[in-house]
Amino acid sequence: MGEGLLQGAKASRRGPEISHLLFADDCILFGEATNRGAWVLKEILKEYESCSGQSVGTGKSISVFNDVWIPDSSNFRLSSVGINSGDYKVAELINNYNRKWNRERIVNTFPKEVAEKIFGIPLVREPHDDFQVWSGEPSGEYSVRSAYKLLQLFDPRAYALHTDYRNFYKKLWLLDLPTKIKITTWKTSWNYLPIRVNMLARKLTNNSTCPRCGGGAESMDHLFRECPVSIAVWSALSTLNVLQESNLDFVQWLTTVFALHPPSHCRLFYCALWAIWGDRNARIHNKTNRSGQEIASFVHSYLKELNDGEKSISRTSKEVKKWTHLPGQAVKINFYRAFDEHNQQSASGIVVRNSEGLVLLSYTKIHHRVSSAFSAEALASRKATMIVINMQGKKTIIEGDSLSITKKCKAKGYDKSHVGAYIHDIQQLKSRSNNLRFTASVVKEPIESDNAISEEMKDLMEMAGVIFI
Ligand SMILES: [Zn+2]
Repeated sequence: MGEGLLQGAKASRRGPEISHLLFADDCILFGEATNRGAWVLKEILKEYESCSGQSVGTGKSISVFNDVWIPDSSNFRLSSVGINSGDYKVAELINNYNRKWNRERIVNTFPKEVAEKIFGIPLVREPHDDFQVWSGEPSGEYSVRSAYKLLQLFDPRAYALHTDYRNFYKKLWLLDLPTKIKITTWKTSWNYLPIRVNMLARKLTNNSTCPRCGGGAESMDHLFRECPVSIAVWSALSTLNVLQESNLDFVQWLTTVFALHPPSHCRLFYCALWAIWGDRNARIHNKTNRSGQEIASFVHSYLKELNDGEKSISRTSKEVKKWTHLPGQAVKINFYRAFDEHNQQSASGIVVRNSEGLVLLSYTKIHHRVSSAFSAEALASRKATMIVINMQGKKTIIEGDSLSITKKCKAKGYDKSHVGAYIHDIQQLKSRSNNLRFTASVVKEPIESDNAISEEMKDLMEMAGVIFI
């Protein structure tokens, strides 16, 4: 689009050209009905194709060298790095009788790092057809957001979110403040606020003078740092001292706060920005007139209210979740997982209890070549399901820690994420029993880079033979 290849359609003669409309899951492209237009469209589809990959089922339709099927290497075809010895299929790398990778063949064919990646691809026990996935997302599903993510990868500068910003946004969204304040800060960082200078640039006004003091053009800098009312707000919030950093340009000033101040000051700072913007609008629309001191005390009391509210919430929600008894003859399975990222191994721990809470069976197992905490969770879940199927007949509830894995287990249809193979196996097992239900105990997701292993999990892993140094 940036290259002007796509000619858009016009809704009216003088209206803007529309080249594309992006929806959550769909994208409509407008183009010319000419040879050139068709060529452009073909190029776009080609680009899309190169960004998607194959999820291994039977492996019969995936070409080892010409398809994209090895994870963490989007766009990576083995043929493009000169490894090629005829076109054979991924199915030939799989031992069909035990559904495991053919280690010998893989080690002898591929460089070590590629072989390791292949061993990390989970295989389904009961094979299904191979299918196409979007390799840019862990979920394997394509959305409009995925396209932007990918574009950023190719050219971080063109798509703005550079590393400085990325850190800034990450910290901003984590900050304990209402969303409306964070959104205002976000808009400020992108220069999206309808200040006079921006309105003038879009020909929505013919006057860029500051509506508060009339002393200069209302730019971001003026609004937040130069206008006398804002200066008064900052000097009333004396703990912050933000006006001292006058050598920084506006966006630097906005974003480096995290580096220079503790979280409590950051909250104060962004809340004050939001209050200044709110006061500026109230002045224009409601003709109110508050002093810098008044705005500052509003900020303080607003934050105080917020803190008090939180305290009462955390007091009431701090109930410890206990194991709950079940009616009748039902059986409940809890499964746990621990993940050791460094050694790429995980442990599954499974406890089966009857309706009185009596432990009927407990089980631990170590898995090697596990690529993520998420895989570890899915593996533990598969093991738990297999145990249930072998117990036969009893009403069973399988309870795990992760809401999204539980959701996947309950769902029907192919899961396109990198744990899809495990989920497929679970779904197959589930279809053999009418007495099985999945629930999540806590709404907590395994974090990919989460290296911390809880003490309980450590015990579990030690029981299964892992030694911690
Ligand atoms: Zn002003």
